[in-house]
Amino acid sequence: MKFALFNGERIEAKKGAKGECPCCGSELIAKCGEVYIHHWAHKKKCDDHWWENETEWHRNWKNQLPEEWQEIIPRDESGEKHIADVKTSEDWVIEFQHSRLEPEERNSRDNFYTKLIWVVDGMRRKTDAKQFQNILNEAKAVFHEPLLLDVNYPEECRLLKEWGNGSSLIFVDFGDSLISYKDGYTSAEDLWLIYPQTSDGKVFLSHFLRNSFIELLNNNKCDEIFDKLINPIQKEINEYIINEKAAGKESLRRLKEKDEEIRRRFGIKEDEDYFDGRNGIRIFKRY
Ligand SMILES: [Zn+2]
Repeated sequence: MKFALFNGERIEAKKGAKGECPCCGSELIAKCGEVYIHHWAHKKKCDDHWWENETEWHRNWKNQLPEEWQEIIPRDESGEKHIADVKTSEDWVIEFQHSRLEPEERNSRDNFYTKLIWVVDGMRRKTDAKQFQNILNEAKAVFHEPLLLDVNYPEECRLLKEWGNGSSLIFVDFGDSLISYKDGYTSAEDLWLIYPQTSDGKVFLSHFLRNSFIELLNNNKCDEIFDKLINPIQKEINEYIINEKAAGKESLRRLKEKDEEIRRRFGIKEDEDYFDGRNGIRIFKRY
């Protein structure tokens, strides 16, 4: 943790300093070594089992946002409380997630925080950026400006398997890896956005400039992210799905019509099938 409580004040870790956990009240030890970022560690485990040890990645993200928003402890009506990495003054919670999270745990956070945005570390595992790139190579563009991609095989990407079925917004941070879509687009400046899962389980992706994201957060414009950029796209996604389904139905209907026509024309019986090949129709008995 970055902050401990000492005489009611939030203080950062310094050699020899003492403090207590602002969430569970237990004693914290200041860790101020050479290798890791200076931080507070629990002597006993924290009551907040959601808390994960901070990495430099966490700290870099938090430090881009106002100090008074960092490590805030929201409670619900039942008294349950957790340390949110960041909570904006308009009550958006930003969770920076480095380690793997079980889906049940992620769902319980999606439920606990009503306005939640996840930022996921896409650089923890060596293969994640590469797998994600492979998924982009196979994805279909719903539109190009802004880029919105319909993912074909989300199960082939571990990150999407872990994060593709959430109900909150998820931004994946691939650090300085170059990610590209076909020939048209290559950048290391973006976060990749995983949309909340659609009712029929489809996964859609888009990208968002990392610096704009940080700027919008700092200016308390999370609502704006939703109103201007997310909700209209969500609407497009829903329309796209309806159209795709209709197109699927339409092509099935056409296939069926063609099948019936061939059967009529060649007098193919109920217990017969046919093969429509280069040399015309070949009829055979169905086994
Ligand atoms: Zn604690």
